[in-house]
Amino acid sequence: MSDTSTPDILADIQPLKAKPKPGKLFINGEFVDAQDGKTFNTHYPATANVITQIAEAGTEDVDRAVKAARAAFSEGSPWRKMNAVDRTRCLLKLAELMRANAEELSELETLDTGKPIFESSKFDVPQAAECFEYYAGWVTKITGETIPVSKGGDAFAYTLREPIGVCGQIIPWNFPLQMLSWKVAPALACGNTVVLKPAEQTPLTALRFAELTLEAGIPPGVFNVITGGGATGAALVEHEDVDKIAFTGSVETGKSIMRAASKTLKRVSLELGGKSPNLIFADSDLETAAKYALGGIFFNQGEMCTAGSRIFVEESGYDQFMSVLTSRAQKMVAGDPLHPKTRLGSLISEEHLNNVLNYVDIGKKEGAIVTTGGERIGTKGYFMKPTVLEGVTNSMRVAQEEIFGPVASVIRFKDAEEALREANNSQFGLAASIWTRDIKKAHKLARSLKAGTVWINTISTTDNALPFGGYKDSGFGRELGKSAIDLYTETKSVWVDLN
Ligand code: ADP
Repeated sequence: MSDTSTPDILADIQPLKAKPKPGKLFINGEFVDAQDGKTFNTHYPATANVITQIAEAGTEDVDRAVKAARAAFSEGSPWRKMNAVDRTRCLLKLAELMRANAEELSELETLDTGKPIFESSKFDVPQAAECFEYYAGWVTKITGETIPVSKGGDAFAYTLREPIGVCGQIIPWNFPLQMLSWKVAPALACGNTVVLKPAEQTPLTALRFAELTLEAGIPPGVFNVITGGGATGAALVEHEDVDKIAFTGSVETGKSIMRAASKTLKRVSLELGGKSPNLIFADSDLETAAKYALGGIFFNQGEMCTAGSRIFVEESGYDQFMSVLTSRAQKMVAGDPLHPKTRLGSLISEEHLNNVLNYVDIGKKEGAIVTTGGERIGTKGYFMKPTVLEGVTNSMRVAQEEIFGPVASVIRFKDAEEALREANNSQFGLAASIWTRDIKKAHKLARSLKAGTVWINTISTTDNALPFGGYKDSGFGRELGKSAIDLYTETKSVWVDLN
């Protein structure tokens, strides 16, 4: 651990259990090079050092992966013939293998993202394994309905839920293994096949996971990984034999994916950005609200789509809330992400760090005051101090645009009406949080907030059983829970004439 001004990030680095080997594409159960031999580097953000080289999939490689996924989905294939109980066993085995290899997966996740190993090992990896356990339970419970029909005399009608087919899944770099699990687990539970494209910054855990799928007995071609950047993702979206695209990432990329997917009328689900309001009422337990607000914005270095980045505080509780928030933010110490005590890691890249720092300048120019933080830490890696901006109004860019870093914009409000109006005054609608002891106020606000998730007296928590997704520019389609079963199946109506 080191202090916030001059962290010696390298001082404590522990030897890796397994040094990552160069990453290849995972197609039809085998690791292969890109056809043109192209590779790119993946970096450890805490040092900017290259971890290893990764194959960069071109259009032909994407085509190979889609063909493998299509063959694995074909009528009579081992995957299509596998019964529901055996599919359940595969998913449970995968989860078991993830837990058995948790130490290595956590290290790889921290190496690729720069997030604290505390987070990777306590949250990312176990929660990803749990997601497979959750969807393993669904496999035997995916059913249609028997529906009475009124026309045509005597008839018997029912619905079937069928897998969609080949699913292209494109995920971001902030929670690589968790985002993989949210997409891959329900897709496989429903009997689809998958071509996954992890973010170019964070391919390592997806590739290690790929090995585990074979050990778990998932037939070759059912799960494929193509590594590469935006062009690789775009080739997947444009491929005419992909039936569905599930994407998590930025609004701009989401729009471009939707446009491209329209050419082949692919099913699309999008989980995009957020600028989530966190409403703090004076009648709440302000100490607890401040403590949780801190986690809501600074967990994972603020690199979260649900980050509670707009903190609205009622006038009469403002000073008390702010003194706890600010003093706790000042005490957050960055350090070696691989050290178990570190709670604040590195941002993903220099470019991203500069973008986030630029937002601090924009905020200052707009009239915001930096209460704490606002600066890079040291020169090694991409560390940044937790930053609190006061004197923000909701129309400022720092309140309207997603910063995706450790920057909280604090806005005062007078009453619930004003808080609600301003909270909803945003292009985004991913999540919102309310802190109050008044249950009527809380539930009324929960109804009126335009957000896919509303937390009351908590923040930033998700559960595999609870649908997750956005209103407005935060996207559409709900992942997790039963909703994801709907996302990954087609409904077929069968009508039998009994006359
Ligand atoms: P960020 O700016 O945070 O990296 P992006 O939305 O650009 O967010 O990236 C999220 C994921 O989308 C990554 O896996 C990235 O490679 C992929 N991606 C980027 N551009 C495209 C595109 N045009 N089509 C498909 N996937 C893309």
